[in-house]
Amino acid sequence: MRVGVLGAGAMGCLFGGLLHRAGHDVTLVDVSVEQIRAINEHGLILERDGEVLRIPVPARFAGEVAIAPDLLIVFTKTLHSRAALESARGFIGPATTLLTLQNGLGNAEIMECFVPRERVVQGITTFPADLVSAGRVHSLGPGQTKIMALDGRVTPRLEEVCSALEGAGLSCEISPGATAAIWEKVAFNAALNTLTAVTGLTVGPIADSPEARDLARRIAGEVVRVANRKGIEADLAAVLETMEGALAAHRGHQPSMLQDMAAHRRTEVESLNGAVVREAGALGIEVPFTEALYLLVRTLESANATA
Ligand code: NAD
Repeated sequence: MRVGVLGAGAMGCLFGGLLHRAGHDVTLVDVSVEQIRAINEHGLILERDGEVLRIPVPARFAGEVAIAPDLLIVFTKTLHSRAALESARGFIGPATTLLTLQNGLGNAEIMECFVPRERVVQGITTFPADLVSAGRVHSLGPGQTKIMALDGRVTPRLEEVCSALEGAGLSCEISPGATAAIWEKVAFNAALNTLTAVTGLTVGPIADSPEARDLARRIAGEVVRVANRKGIEADLAAVLETMEGALAAHRGHQPSMLQDMAAHRRTEVESLNGAVVREAGALGIEVPFTEALYLLVRTLESANATA
């Protein structure tokens, strides 16, 4: 399969690297000169579960890509999706399927602005990845990927995408529950990511604070209530169980929103709490805790932007 990966950061490199290793014709696409140069000069270095792989996958700027891929996986941060897809217009062909496994809401809807609905696939992945340095990515532990076409149809192309990911070791299933899984992940991230970003604390001190845990549970509850009112069967018990697991097992972890805040970068809060607040508003539901964290993160982002 010819695969393009738009956004060759931590996750783009993990997915693109493993797909290349599995024999697919992969091109990584990014805007970072440093990242592209490092990958082309030294290969992509992927540290995974104690193994260090050097993967000779090409990395390009969008303007250098000439051939349309069968599958274009978008792995920018959500705030960069639209600009990235604009830059990719020249190589999105009439048969290119777009796949988003990004966190947050509204990603598939952005893709529909670039290809017809029947060529948009969305989902989630629980595989983790961190960018160690330019061209070097670290990933630890198992994960699960769930995908579904936006129009709900299971086509040969969807099956081909699923088996490519599965064959690359990215444990993939076609799941009618992918939309619920997206909302459950949003509930988790809207609670924990924002709490760490606003307090500056890692997961450990959040886990140790009954007040922070209470707030996290309230936010998750609000998000799931909005999903349920939309007819999406997100399960609060499942979110809380995942949250308890993360609080116990990842005490030193700095969620990406905390890292973004510390580096004075814009965060993904608009596609998490921000999107939930807008969905809730359209349904006439109040989500005060989710909204408060949204406003606090936005306040810090604005202060960082002018600092
Ligand atoms: P990242 O910041 O490591 O990578 C994003 C990449 O996109 C960067 O290399 C950046 O240069 C590139 N980019 C920015 N603008 C671009 C543009 N216009 N065109 C092309 N490339 C552009 O982010 P990440 O951690 O890989 O996360 C990507 C997405 O996956 C996010 O939505 C995140 O929430 C989600 N996600 C992350 C993890 C994780 O463990 N890191 C797990 C699951 C989901």
